[in-house]
Amino acid sequence: MNNLSRQDCQRLDLDDPLAVFRDEFQLPIDSIYLCGNSLGAMPKKALTVAAEVVTAQWGIDLVKSWNAHGWFQMATDIGDMLAPTIGAEPGEVVMTDSTSINLFKVVSAALMLQPKRYKILMEGSNFPTDNYTIQGLIKLLGESYEIIFAEGEDIVSAIDDTIAVVCLTQVHYKTGRVLEMMDITSKAHEVGSVTVWDLCHSAGAMDVDLNACQADFAIGCTYKYYNGGPGSPAFIFAAKRHHGAALQPLTGWWGHQAPFNFERDYRPATGIHQMLTGTQPIITMAVSKVGIEIATRANIKQVRQKSLALGNLFIELLEHHCGDYGFELVSPRDHTRGSQVALRHDQGYAIMQALIDAGVVGDFRAPDILRFGLTPLYLRYVDVWDAVMKLKSIMTEQTWQLAKYHQRQTVT
Ligand SMILES: *Cc1c(COP(=O)(O)O)cnc(C)c1O
Repeated sequence: MNNLSRQDCQRLDLDDPLAVFRDEFQLPIDSIYLCGNSLGAMPKKALTVAAEVVTAQWGIDLVKSWNAHGWFQMATDIGDMLAPTIGAEPGEVVMTDSTSINLFKVVSAALMLQPKRYKILMEGSNFPTDNYTIQGLIKLLGESYEIIFAEGEDIVSAIDDTIAVVCLTQVHYKTGRVLEMMDITSKAHEVGSVTVWDLCHSAGAMDVDLNACQADFAIGCTYKYYNGGPGSPAFIFAAKRHHGAALQPLTGWWGHQAPFNFERDYRPATGIHQMLTGTQPIITMAVSKVGIEIATRANIKQVRQKSLALGNLFIELLEHHCGDYGFELVSPRDHTRGSQVALRHDQGYAIMQALIDAGVVGDFRAPDILRFGLTPLYLRYVDVWDAVMKLKSIMTEQTWQLAKYHQRQTVT
Protein backbone atom coordinates (compact mmCIF):
# COMPACT_ATOMS: atom_id res chain seq x y z
CA MET A 1 0.00 0.00 0.00
CA ASN A 2 2.94 2.32 0.62
CA ASN A 3 3.48 3.02 -3.03
CA LEU A 4 -0.02 4.35 -3.53
CA SER A 5 -0.18 7.13 -6.06
CA ARG A 6 -2.59 10.01 -6.45
CA GLN A 7 -4.17 8.08 -9.32
CA ASP A 8 -4.83 5.13 -7.04
CA CYS A 9 -6.72 7.51 -4.77
CA GLN A 10 -8.71 8.84 -7.71
CA ARG A 11 -9.66 5.27 -8.53
CA LEU A 12 -10.88 4.71 -4.97
CA ASP A 13 -13.07 7.79 -5.38
CA LEU A 14 -14.62 6.38 -8.54
CA ASP A 15 -15.63 3.24 -6.64
CA ASP A 16 -16.94 5.14 -3.63
CA PRO A 17 -20.67 4.51 -3.04
CA LEU A 18 -20.88 7.70 -0.93
CA ALA A 19 -19.33 9.97 -3.56
CA VAL A 20 -22.77 11.27 -4.58
CA PHE A 21 -23.18 13.09 -1.28
CA ARG A 22 -20.28 15.49 -1.84
CA ASP A 23 -22.26 17.64 -4.20
CA GLU A 24 -24.86 18.34 -1.50
CA PHE A 25 -22.29 20.37 0.44
CA GLN A 26 -20.85 23.84 -0.01
CA LEU A 27 -17.12 23.26 0.26
CA PRO A 28 -14.24 25.75 0.14
CA ILE A 29 -12.70 25.76 -3.33
CA ASP A 30 -9.19 26.62 -2.19
CA SER A 31 -8.77 24.26 0.73
CA ILE A 32 -9.28 20.74 2.02
CA TYR A 33 -11.53 20.70 5.04
CA LEU A 34 -10.40 18.24 7.72
CA CYS A 35 -12.29 19.88 10.55
CA GLY A 36 -15.75 18.36 10.13
CA ASN A 37 -15.33 16.78 13.57
CA SER A 38 -15.45 20.30 14.99
CA LEU A 39 -17.84 22.11 12.67
CA GLY A 40 -19.41 20.16 9.82
CA ALA A 41 -19.67 21.60 6.31
CA MET A 42 -22.71 23.54 5.13
CA PRO A 43 -25.28 21.61 3.12
CA LYS A 44 -26.18 23.76 0.09
CA LYS A 45 -29.88 23.43 0.87
CA ALA A 46 -29.33 25.12 4.25
CA LEU A 47 -29.32 28.48 2.52
CA THR A 48 -32.78 27.99 0.99
CA VAL A 49 -34.20 26.68 4.24
CA ALA A 50 -32.73 29.59 6.22
CA ALA A 51 -34.19 32.08 3.75
CA GLU A 52 -37.58 30.36 3.90
CA VAL A 53 -37.81 30.21 7.69
CA VAL A 54 -36.70 33.82 8.08
CA THR A 55 -38.59 35.54 5.28
CA ALA A 56 -41.72 33.47 4.73
CA GLN A 57 -42.26 31.98 8.20
CA TRP A 58 -40.93 34.48 10.71
CA GLY A 59 -41.26 37.42 8.33
CA ILE A 60 -44.80 36.84 7.15
CA ASP A 61 -46.62 34.25 9.22
CA LEU A 62 -45.05 35.34 12.49
CA VAL A 63 -46.63 33.70 15.55
CA LYS A 64 -48.99 31.61 13.43
CA SER A 65 -45.90 29.64 12.37
CA TRP A 66 -45.88 27.71 15.65
CA ASN A 67 -48.86 25.80 14.29
CA ALA A 68 -48.67 26.49 10.55
CA HIS A 69 -45.04 25.47 10.10
CA GLY A 70 -44.72 22.86 12.83
CA TRP A 71 -42.39 24.98 14.98
CA PHE A 72 -43.73 23.54 18.21
CA GLN A 73 -43.18 19.92 17.13
CA MET A 74 -39.78 20.54 15.58
CA ALA A 75 -37.80 19.32 18.61
CA THR A 76 -39.47 15.91 18.58
CA ASP A 77 -39.81 15.70 14.79
CA ILE A 78 -36.07 16.14 14.33
CA GLY A 79 -35.48 13.77 17.26
CA ASP A 80 -37.54 11.11 15.48
CA MET A 81 -35.64 11.74 12.27
CA LEU A 82 -32.28 11.38 14.00
CA ALA A 83 -33.29 8.34 16.10
CA PRO A 84 -32.48 5.56 13.57
CA THR A 85 -28.95 6.92 13.07
CA ILE A 86 -28.14 6.07 16.71
CA GLY A 87 -30.17 2.89 17.10
CA ALA A 88 -33.10 4.53 18.89
CA GLU A 89 -36.86 4.32 18.42
CA PRO A 90 -39.10 7.23 17.50
CA GLY A 91 -40.18 8.92 20.74
CA GLU A 92 -36.83 8.29 22.43
CA VAL A 93 -34.90 11.28 21.06
CA VAL A 94 -35.49 15.00 21.20
CA MET A 95 -33.46 17.88 19.79
CA THR A 96 -32.88 20.65 22.28
CA ASP A 97 -30.40 22.94 24.03
CA SER A 98 -26.66 22.31 24.01
CA THR A 99 -24.70 19.16 24.79
CA SER A 100 -23.41 20.71 28.03
CA ILE A 101 -26.92 21.56 29.24
CA ASN A 102 -28.31 18.21 28.15
CA LEU A 103 -25.57 16.41 30.03
CA PHE A 104 -26.59 18.27 33.18
CA LYS A 105 -30.19 17.23 32.60
CA VAL A 106 -29.66 13.54 31.92
CA VAL A 107 -27.03 12.96 34.59
CA SER A 108 -29.40 14.58 37.10
CA ALA A 109 -32.23 12.35 35.89
CA ALA A 110 -29.98 9.29 36.11
CA LEU A 111 -28.92 10.20 39.67
CA MET A 112 -32.54 10.48 40.73
CA LEU A 113 -33.01 6.86 39.69
CA GLN A 114 -30.24 5.94 42.15
CA PRO A 115 -31.23 7.40 45.53
CA LYS A 116 -28.60 5.51 47.58
CA ARG A 117 -25.59 6.03 45.31
CA TYR A 118 -23.44 9.15 45.08
CA LYS A 119 -20.61 8.45 42.64
CA ILE A 120 -20.36 9.35 38.98
CA LEU A 121 -17.68 7.60 36.95
CA MET A 122 -16.09 9.76 34.24
CA GLU A 123 -12.95 9.93 32.15
CA GLY A 124 -10.72 12.79 33.30
CA SER A 125 -9.24 13.33 29.84
CA ASN A 126 -12.70 13.77 28.30
CA PHE A 127 -13.63 17.02 26.57
CA PRO A 128 -13.61 19.43 29.53
CA THR A 129 -17.21 20.65 29.31
CA ASP A 130 -18.45 17.22 30.40
CA ASN A 131 -16.32 17.28 33.54
CA TYR A 132 -17.00 20.95 34.26
CA THR A 133 -20.76 20.48 33.96
CA ILE A 134 -20.88 17.53 36.33
CA GLN A 135 -18.55 19.31 38.76
CA GLY A 136 -21.14 22.10 38.84
CA LEU A 137 -23.96 19.62 39.34
CA ILE A 138 -22.40 17.87 42.32
CA LYS A 139 -21.57 21.20 43.92
CA LEU A 140 -25.28 21.89 43.81
CA LEU A 141 -26.20 18.43 45.13
CA GLY A 142 -23.89 18.56 48.12
CA GLU A 143 -20.92 16.90 49.71
CA SER A 144 -22.05 13.30 49.52
CA TYR A 145 -21.61 13.35 45.73
CA GLU A 146 -18.31 12.74 44.01
CA ILE A 147 -16.79 12.14 40.60
CA ILE A 148 -14.55 9.11 40.20
CA PHE A 149 -12.12 9.50 37.31
CA ALA A 150 -10.78 6.54 35.37
CA GLU A 151 -9.00 6.40 32.00
CA GLY A 152 -9.37 4.10 29.01
CA GLU A 153 -8.57 0.52 29.94
CA ASP A 154 -9.15 1.16 33.64
CA ILE A 155 -12.75 2.21 33.16
CA VAL A 156 -14.35 -1.23 33.28
CA SER A 157 -12.63 -2.26 36.50
CA ALA A 158 -13.67 1.03 38.13
CA ILE A 159 -17.36 0.16 37.68
CA ASP A 160 -18.68 -1.32 40.92
CA ASP A 161 -21.89 -1.29 42.93
CA THR A 162 -21.11 2.08 44.50
CA ILE A 163 -21.26 3.86 41.13
CA ALA A 164 -24.57 5.59 40.46
CA VAL A 165 -23.88 6.76 36.93
CA VAL A 166 -21.28 5.80 34.34
CA CYS A 167 -20.91 8.90 32.18
CA LEU A 168 -18.56 8.47 29.22
CA THR A 169 -17.85 9.80 25.75
CA GLN A 170 -17.85 6.99 23.19
CA VAL A 171 -15.13 8.45 20.94
CA HIS A 172 -12.36 10.43 22.61
CA TYR A 173 -12.17 13.99 21.27
CA LYS A 174 -8.39 14.07 21.15
CA THR A 175 -7.21 10.59 20.33
CA GLY A 176 -10.27 9.33 18.47
CA ARG A 177 -10.26 6.09 20.50
CA VAL A 178 -13.61 4.25 20.64
CA LEU A 179 -14.88 2.84 23.93
CA GLU A 180 -16.79 -0.48 23.90
CA MET A 181 -20.32 0.73 24.51
CA MET A 182 -21.83 -2.75 24.67
CA ASP A 183 -19.37 -4.19 27.21
CA ILE A 184 -19.24 -1.12 29.41
CA THR A 185 -23.01 -0.74 29.48
CA SER A 186 -23.58 -4.36 30.40
CA LYS A 187 -20.93 -4.23 33.13
CA ALA A 188 -22.63 -1.11 34.48
CA HIS A 189 -26.01 -2.82 34.50
CA GLU A 190 -24.62 -5.92 36.22
CA VAL A 191 -23.75 -3.78 39.24
CA GLY A 192 -26.88 -1.66 39.05
CA SER A 193 -25.37 1.53 37.55
CA VAL A 194 -27.06 3.72 34.98
CA THR A 195 -25.22 4.81 31.82
CA VAL A 196 -24.98 8.19 30.09
CA TRP A 197 -23.19 8.17 26.73
CA ASP A 198 -21.86 11.30 25.06
CA LEU A 199 -22.01 10.69 21.30
CA CYS A 200 -20.48 13.98 20.12
CA HIS A 201 -17.73 12.29 18.13
CA SER A 202 -19.59 9.13 17.14
CA ALA A 203 -23.17 10.02 16.14
CA GLY A 204 -23.36 10.50 12.40
CA ALA A 205 -19.84 9.15 11.93
CA MET A 206 -20.20 5.52 12.89
CA ASP A 207 -22.85 2.91 13.58
CA VAL A 208 -24.12 3.50 17.10
CA ASP A 209 -26.79 1.13 18.39
CA LEU A 210 -28.04 2.48 21.70
CA ASN A 211 -30.93 0.05 22.11
CA ALA A 212 -28.88 -3.00 21.16
CA CYS A 213 -26.49 -1.94 23.94
CA GLN A 214 -29.46 -1.24 26.26
CA ALA A 215 -28.02 2.21 26.90
CA ASP A 216 -30.00 4.31 29.36
CA PHE A 217 -29.32 7.90 28.30
CA ALA A 218 -27.27 9.60 25.61
CA ILE A 219 -26.57 13.10 24.41
CA GLY A 220 -24.63 14.54 21.50
CA CYS A 221 -24.22 17.54 19.30
CA THR A 222 -25.39 18.05 15.73
CA TYR A 223 -22.91 20.63 14.44
CA LYS A 224 -20.15 18.05 13.98
CA TYR A 225 -20.94 14.96 11.90
CA TYR A 226 -24.59 15.90 11.29
CA ASN A 227 -23.58 19.18 9.64
CA GLY A 228 -26.30 21.09 11.50
CA GLY A 229 -24.52 24.45 11.49
CA PRO A 230 -22.68 26.47 14.16
CA GLY A 231 -24.43 26.17 17.52
CA SER A 232 -27.20 23.93 16.22
CA PRO A 233 -29.00 22.32 19.18
CA ALA A 234 -27.92 19.01 20.60
CA PHE A 235 -30.02 15.89 21.16
CA ILE A 236 -31.07 13.75 24.11
CA PHE A 237 -31.85 10.05 24.06
CA ALA A 238 -33.74 8.54 26.98
CA ALA A 239 -34.61 4.84 26.73
CA LYS A 240 -38.37 4.28 26.80
CA ARG A 241 -38.19 2.20 29.98
CA HIS A 242 -37.06 5.32 31.86
CA HIS A 243 -39.79 7.64 30.60
CA GLY A 244 -41.95 8.91 33.42
CA ALA A 245 -39.51 7.60 36.06
CA ALA A 246 -36.35 9.54 35.21
CA LEU A 247 -37.07 13.24 35.49
CA GLN A 248 -34.65 15.97 34.46
CA PRO A 249 -34.66 18.94 36.85
CA LEU A 250 -34.78 21.93 34.48
CA THR A 251 -38.54 21.74 34.60
CA GLY A 252 -39.58 24.51 32.27
CA TRP A 253 -42.92 24.79 30.55
CA TRP A 254 -41.93 22.85 27.42
CA GLY A 255 -41.46 19.76 29.59
CA HIS A 256 -44.88 20.14 31.23
CA GLN A 257 -47.59 17.62 30.47
CA ALA A 258 -49.88 20.38 29.16
CA PRO A 259 -47.82 23.51 28.41
CA PHE A 260 -50.81 25.46 27.14
CA ASN A 261 -52.91 24.89 30.26
CA PHE A 262 -50.64 27.40 32.00
CA GLU A 263 -51.09 25.71 35.37
CA ARG A 264 -49.29 26.95 38.46
CA ASP A 265 -47.45 23.73 39.21
CA TYR A 266 -45.20 21.56 37.14
CA ARG A 267 -46.51 18.19 36.02
CA PRO A 268 -43.94 16.24 34.02
CA ALA A 269 -44.71 15.22 30.46
CA THR A 270 -44.80 11.45 30.30
CA GLY A 271 -42.68 10.89 27.21
CA ILE A 272 -39.43 12.29 25.81
CA HIS A 273 -40.97 15.80 26.02
CA GLN A 274 -39.99 15.89 29.69
CA MET A 275 -36.38 16.37 28.50
CA LEU A 276 -37.36 19.79 27.10
CA THR A 277 -37.11 22.98 29.09
CA GLY A 278 -38.09 26.12 27.21
CA THR A 279 -38.49 27.75 23.81
CA GLN A 280 -36.10 26.44 21.18
CA PRO A 281 -34.01 28.35 18.60
CA ILE A 282 -36.29 27.68 15.64
CA ILE A 283 -34.15 29.20 12.90
CA THR A 284 -31.04 27.22 13.69
CA MET A 285 -33.13 24.11 14.30
CA ALA A 286 -34.86 24.39 10.94
CA VAL A 287 -31.46 24.75 9.27
CA SER A 288 -29.93 21.84 11.18
CA LYS A 289 -32.63 19.53 9.87
CA VAL A 290 -31.07 19.72 6.41
CA GLY A 291 -27.82 18.09 7.53
CA ILE A 292 -29.56 15.53 9.71
CA GLU A 293 -31.81 14.52 6.83
CA ILE A 294 -28.73 13.92 4.67
CA ALA A 295 -27.29 11.70 7.42
CA THR A 296 -30.44 9.58 7.45
CA ARG A 297 -30.05 8.89 3.72
CA ALA A 298 -26.45 7.70 3.98
CA ASN A 299 -25.85 4.04 4.77
CA ILE A 300 -24.08 4.30 8.12
CA LYS A 301 -22.16 1.03 7.59
CA GLN A 302 -20.72 2.51 4.39
CA VAL A 303 -19.96 5.74 6.23
CA ARG A 304 -18.06 3.83 8.88
CA GLN A 305 -16.20 1.74 6.32
CA LYS A 306 -15.10 4.80 4.37
CA SER A 307 -14.16 6.68 7.50
CA LEU A 308 -11.81 3.87 8.53
CA ALA A 309 -10.45 3.60 4.98
CA LEU A 310 -9.73 7.35 4.84
CA GLY A 311 -7.98 7.10 8.20
CA ASN A 312 -5.92 4.08 7.13
CA LEU A 313 -4.91 5.91 3.97
CA PHE A 314 -3.93 9.01 5.94
CA ILE A 315 -1.78 6.98 8.33
CA GLU A 316 -0.08 4.96 5.57
CA LEU A 317 0.71 8.02 3.47
CA LEU A 318 1.91 9.92 6.53
CA GLU A 319 4.27 7.17 7.58
CA HIS A 320 5.61 6.76 4.06
CA HIS A 321 6.04 10.43 3.18
CA CYS A 322 6.45 12.19 6.54
CA GLY A 323 8.07 9.40 8.55
CA ASP A 324 11.19 11.45 9.35
CA TYR A 325 9.57 14.50 10.86
CA GLY A 326 8.81 13.43 14.40
CA PHE A 327 5.06 12.82 14.22
CA GLU A 328 3.67 10.31 16.67
CA LEU A 329 0.37 8.60 15.87
CA VAL A 330 -1.96 9.08 18.84
CA SER A 331 -5.07 7.45 17.35
CA PRO A 332 -5.53 3.68 17.30
CA ARG A 333 -4.54 1.99 14.04
CA ASP A 334 -7.44 -0.44 13.98
CA HIS A 335 -11.24 -0.37 14.12
CA THR A 336 -11.11 1.17 17.60
CA ARG A 337 -10.40 4.48 15.91
CA GLY A 338 -13.29 6.91 15.39
CA SER A 339 -13.47 9.28 12.43
CA GLN A 340 -10.29 11.28 12.95
CA VAL A 341 -6.54 10.88 13.00
CA ALA A 342 -4.62 12.58 15.79
CA LEU A 343 -0.88 13.16 15.69
CA ARG A 344 1.45 14.40 18.39
CA HIS A 345 4.29 16.80 17.58
CA ASP A 346 6.02 19.26 19.88
CA GLN A 347 5.67 21.96 17.20
CA GLY A 348 2.06 20.95 16.61
CA TYR A 349 0.57 24.43 16.90
CA ALA A 350 2.90 26.09 14.37
CA ILE A 351 2.69 23.16 11.97
CA MET A 352 -1.10 23.31 12.00
CA GLN A 353 -1.11 27.08 11.39
CA ALA A 354 1.25 26.66 8.43
CA LEU A 355 -0.88 23.83 7.11
CA ILE A 356 -4.08 25.86 7.38
CA ASP A 357 -2.35 28.67 5.49
CA ALA A 358 -1.39 26.16 2.83
CA GLY A 359 -5.05 25.15 2.42
CA VAL A 360 -5.45 22.12 4.67
CA VAL A 361 -7.77 22.92 7.55
CA GLY A 362 -7.35 20.71 10.61
CA ASP A 363 -7.14 21.86 14.21
CA PHE A 364 -4.91 21.83 17.25
CA ARG A 365 -5.65 20.62 20.76
CA ALA A 366 -3.28 21.70 23.50
CA PRO A 367 -0.63 20.85 24.39
CA ASP A 368 0.64 19.08 21.27
CA ILE A 369 -2.09 17.34 19.24
CA LEU A 370 -2.88 17.92 15.57
CA ARG A 371 -6.36 16.65 14.68
CA PHE A 372 -7.58 15.68 11.25
CA GLY A 373 -11.31 15.01 11.02
CA LEU A 374 -12.40 12.61 8.28
CA THR A 375 -15.96 13.09 7.10
CA PRO A 376 -16.98 10.44 4.57
CA LEU A 377 -19.95 12.37 3.16
CA TYR A 378 -17.87 15.10 1.58
CA LEU A 379 -14.21 14.04 1.64
CA ARG A 380 -12.48 12.16 -1.16
CA TYR A 381 -9.52 9.80 -0.98
CA VAL A 382 -7.67 12.23 -3.21
CA ASP A 383 -8.18 14.94 -0.58
CA VAL A 384 -6.32 12.81 1.92
CA TRP A 385 -3.50 12.38 -0.59
CA ASP A 386 -3.29 16.13 -1.23
CA ALA A 387 -3.43 16.92 2.49
CA VAL A 388 -0.54 14.62 3.36
CA MET A 389 1.51 16.02 0.46
CA LYS A 390 0.92 19.56 1.75
CA LEU A 391 2.03 18.46 5.19
CA LYS A 392 5.13 16.94 3.66
CA SER A 393 6.09 20.15 1.88
CA ILE A 394 5.61 22.19 5.06
CA MET A 395 7.94 19.82 6.88
CA THR A 396 10.62 19.64 4.17
CA GLU A 397 10.60 23.39 3.58
CA GLN A 398 10.21 24.10 7.32
CA THR A 399 7.55 26.71 6.60
CA TRP A 400 6.20 26.23 10.12
CA GLN A 401 9.29 27.97 11.52
CA LEU A 402 7.98 31.38 10.42
CA ALA A 403 7.24 33.60 13.43
CA LYS A 404 3.64 34.25 12.39
CA TYR A 405 2.75 30.59 12.83
CA HIS A 406 3.76 30.70 16.48
CA GLN A 407 1.30 33.36 17.61
CA ARG A 408 -1.64 31.77 19.42
CA GLN A 409 -5.14 32.71 18.35
CA THR A 410 -8.22 32.52 20.59
CA VAL A 411 -9.83 29.53 18.90
CA THR A 412 -7.37 26.77 18.04
C1 LIG B 1 -18.14 18.89 20.97
C2 LIG B 1 -18.32 18.30 22.32
C3 LIG B 1 -19.16 18.92 23.25
C4 LIG B 1 -19.84 20.21 22.92
O1 LIG B 1 -20.56 20.76 23.95
P1 LIG B 1 -21.36 22.13 23.72
O2 LIG B 1 -22.27 22.22 24.84
O3 LIG B 1 -22.03 22.02 22.37
O4 LIG B 1 -20.36 23.24 23.65
C5 LIG B 1 -19.35 18.29 24.47
N1 LIG B 1 -18.73 17.13 24.77
C6 LIG B 1 -17.90 16.52 23.89
C7 LIG B 1 -17.25 15.23 24.26
C8 LIG B 1 -17.66 17.10 22.66
O5 LIG B 1 -16.83 16.52 21.80
